[in-house]
Amino acid sequence: MKFLAVLYSGGKAAEEEGRLLGTTENKLGIQEFLESQGHTFIVTDDKEGPDSVFQKELKDADVVISTPFHPAYLTRDLLSEAKSPKLKLAVTAGVGSDHVDLDAANERNITVAEVSGSNVTSVAEHVMMTILVLVRNFVPANEQVRGGDWNVASVARNTFDLEGKVVGTIGAGRIGYRVLQRLVPFDCKELLYFDYAPIPEHAAKALTCRRVESLEEMVSQCDVVTVNCPLHAGTQGLVNKDLLKHFKKGAWLVNTARGAICNADDVAEAVKSGQINGYGGDVWNVQPAPKDHPWRTMKNPLGGGNAMTPHVSGTSIDAQARYANGTKLIIDQWLNGKDIDQANVICIDGHYATRAYGQRDEKGQTVQPPKGKQ
Ligand code: NAP
Repeated sequence: MKFLAVLYSGGKAAEEEGRLLGTTENKLGIQEFLESQGHTFIVTDDKEGPDSVFQKELKDADVVISTPFHPAYLTRDLLSEAKSPKLKLAVTAGVGSDHVDLDAANERNITVAEVSGSNVTSVAEHVMMTILVLVRNFVPANEQVRGGDWNVASVARNTFDLEGKVVGTIGAGRIGYRVLQRLVPFDCKELLYFDYAPIPEHAAKALTCRRVESLEEMVSQCDVVTVNCPLHAGTQGLVNKDLLKHFKKGAWLVNTARGAICNADDVAEAVKSGQINGYGGDVWNVQPAPKDHPWRTMKNPLGGGNAMTPHVSGTSIDAQARYANGTKLIIDQWLNGKDIDQANVICIDGHYATRAYGQRDEKGQTVQPPKGKQ
């Protein structure tokens, strides 16, 4: 069989650090595993346009392995019979398969799987770091000392404590829950969440968090809002100028879920005007982000409020080991005709196997797309 992986290029860093498994150089550590079984394994970072290695090799690939960090977009067009006639399995080496047109995959009966949970702790830690970086006004303070200056007041005027603040998460799944857990010792005034389903009672009690059933109502109470839901039709552009109007003036917004959940221009405008005091995260609506992306340079009126990084939160060295192993396990199970672990399956036999990306009606119930071809 032919396996095609689209990963990011690690260059010198990947040559020097073999644990950077998610790179084209280190190939998720599965080259020998595949080739020793007689399979062909093509690895590339060249993913854009019809002349890219990705699109050319897709024409006779049986399996595509992609990653959210350098997303190879499996669009409806690329998932057509004409462009990927042999494709049977699409594996996301990581968490988040929104770069795959899942309805189209279901129509073609292509199995889609991801390594659920593999990097959720890594992301939750990054969320905590980003909240603190923003609330404590770290970036301007650090820029100041590295620039040879010393002006405590200019930084302190916009530095706060997380203690006593209200923090809310949009999405309280694996990552959102872990973020709430990690916030408990900070003695926040209140922890809130907005999700379709309540967190089980015993778990919610341990976190002392409260569910708010309206998103507008939740954000209007928060000093910090963190986004931890998947990108799907119902969350694309969810945080836009209309929702931002409901935010408390001067709140902070942290999004490590997917860039496209937030409207890039509306968020940049809200930061620049001081409507929100800052925005941070590591996910962008286009990756790699163009040089002129507004999130690279936006600042609040006091010169801070930007805590952006490249898409790195879920690809710590520890996370890479977990998602590389998980990718290998999914492929091994699939090649041997075993069931892929249920938690890892997104689409199978023409159906969504998870509620996470399925279409929903206005009550939040999953609407199954028509059954795909068998
Ligand atoms: P998860 O366990 O599936 O949790 C997501 C939660 O969000 C679920 O409880 C889901 O509800 C809820 N949800 C869905 N749509 C919502 C909406 N419109 N409003 C409020 N809640 C909503 O997923 P996870 O592992 O926590 O990951 C969440 C997302 O983080 C992933 O989808 C991915 O996009 C992103 N992520 C980013 C990185 C990174 O490196 N930056 C790494 C991993 C994941 P249901 O259970 O009812 O669907």
